[in-house]
Amino acid sequence: MDLIMLGGTVLTLDARDSRAEAIAVDDGRIVATGTSAEVAALANEGTKTVRLEGRTVVPGFIDPHNHFSLTAFEPVAVDCSMPPLDGKRGALDAIAAAAAGAEAGRWIWGIGYSSRRGREPAELMRRELDAAAPENPVCVIDSSVHACYANSAALAIAGIAAATPDPHGGRILREADGSPAGMLWERAMNPVHQRSMAGLIEYYGEQAVADLVEQNALRHLAAGITSVGDANVMPEGAAMYRMADSRGQLPIAIHQMRAGDQFFAPPERAAAGEFTEDDVSDRLRGGTVKIFMDPVFPRSAGWKVHADGHREHLGAPYYTQEEADRLALAAASRGLQVAIHCLGTWAIEQGLDALERAIREYPSAAVTHRIEHFSQPTREQIARASALGVIVCHQPPFFYQGGDRAAVTLAELGIDAPPAPMRMLLDEGVAVAASSDFPCAPLEPLKGLFSIVSRRTRDGVEQVAPEEAISATEGLRLYSLGGARAMSRDHEVGTLEAGKRADMVVLSHDPGAVAAEDIREITVQQTYVDGQRLFERLPAVHQARAATGRPPPSAEPRAATAP
Ligand SMILES: [Zn+2]
Repeated sequence: MDLIMLGGTVLTLDARDSRAEAIAVDDGRIVATGTSAEVAALANEGTKTVRLEGRTVVPGFIDPHNHFSLTAFEPVAVDCSMPPLDGKRGALDAIAAAAAGAEAGRWIWGIGYSSRRGREPAELMRRELDAAAPENPVCVIDSSVHACYANSAALAIAGIAAATPDPHGGRILREADGSPAGMLWERAMNPVHQRSMAGLIEYYGEQAVADLVEQNALRHLAAGITSVGDANVMPEGAAMYRMADSRGQLPIAIHQMRAGDQFFAPPERAAAGEFTEDDVSDRLRGGTVKIFMDPVFPRSAGWKVHADGHREHLGAPYYTQEEADRLALAAASRGLQVAIHCLGTWAIEQGLDALERAIREYPSAAVTHRIEHFSQPTREQIARASALGVIVCHQPPFFYQGGDRAAVTLAELGIDAPPAPMRMLLDEGVAVAASSDFPCAPLEPLKGLFSIVSRRTRDGVEQVAPEEAISATEGLRLYSLGGARAMSRDHEVGTLEAGKRADMVVLSHDPGAVAAEDIREITVQQTYVDGQRLFERLPAVHQARAATGRPPPSAEPRAATAP
């Protein structure tokens, strides 16, 4: 036996929600769970013992919708997040400082900025970015990841000029004379985003990119995440993952959801089955095609339901129903999983229609299709998702971040379900997976879990739709087995059962045993992938005790001193 963990609470999240005190692992797989005495009896020479001391073991968190290939560049990008920055001035100063230290011509990437947040919400303008970085192309990605801000050098590289027409499904914001103002919505950002990402990979080179991927994986492990679904893998992202995987620098599993050749481009090649070699290794998976059904800018494709029942259509989807059906059918005909991003009610309706057709024409027991976000569903659509058996890949961190505002919006639209209607979804029998959509919302699963159990937002004093609360166990299942199903990996991860991979997280407390409001205070103490401890958080006092066998000086009672 390689490893035993004794004296804690093991939440297996199996079909009976079994609990145990201890767990045994051998050769990367779970062998048994049971009482501490039962599991201790399995130890032999060489078995490593972890004393849980009352802590809780749960399955490794699975994050099936996350933009890992984008955040991998965070250490070499300019952080324009608000907070800590309070708006545009701070972001421009940060970019100027980065540009001053960069050689001319090198791409400067900014992340985290939002034209909709900050003290005075504002776009970053091309001319302002030119002044901040006169010698470098600049691409600042909006925190929504549905827009970017570019300076003149970046626009020139991307071939965007005054005469460039707006692409279908995108918009180049313009100055009075028609020249680009700097902000590019949706498909208009495609060439800048793609050229800048390719430029970064080229500049840093394969080894440094592999290091960045590995470093990002370690950050995810620190949050207890052992598997990630990259929700939009372009050719550049796939290349990054191969660079890391081929060097043995991919400590977590990455499930690649293949997109088009640029961020919002139609996934034609993916739907035609060109990337079936994505299943390249044990750590690097594929088999999914991602379709964006609606934008964020200027708004999602929604419905306003009037008192007489009339549905007013708002915004516009990326695709007509026929176009969406064609992509979904092409992918489903090849046995690929289809995952459709649907924010607004109109987009959800089109997404459900496309998946219904795909399921009818190409029924498959092996593949379960997905709807991503499902942000503004009606009760009727929730029932449809259940009847179709599709997986709803939800993001509790969006609720954490702005569930109170979302509740107001939904009420104004006349939608008959509240934000993050978890109780409704589960009672209706919908297969739900929880995810982060990081960097669009906070990464840490415990923050999302806190919000769907407590029904509170980050700073919310009041609960939002408290009747939609689910239990901590139900929430944990969305973050483990739910995600595993979304990635077609439930046969190997998602519960702590004998035979499954030993992907595990040790938490400071049992989320079901603390007050719902305290769940976000729980810490991830250890994270294991295939039985290997890849992250450990130890208070300094424990480390010192482990090293010397006695408490460090700071932990000893202070000697009384004379005043
Ligand atoms: Zn996303």
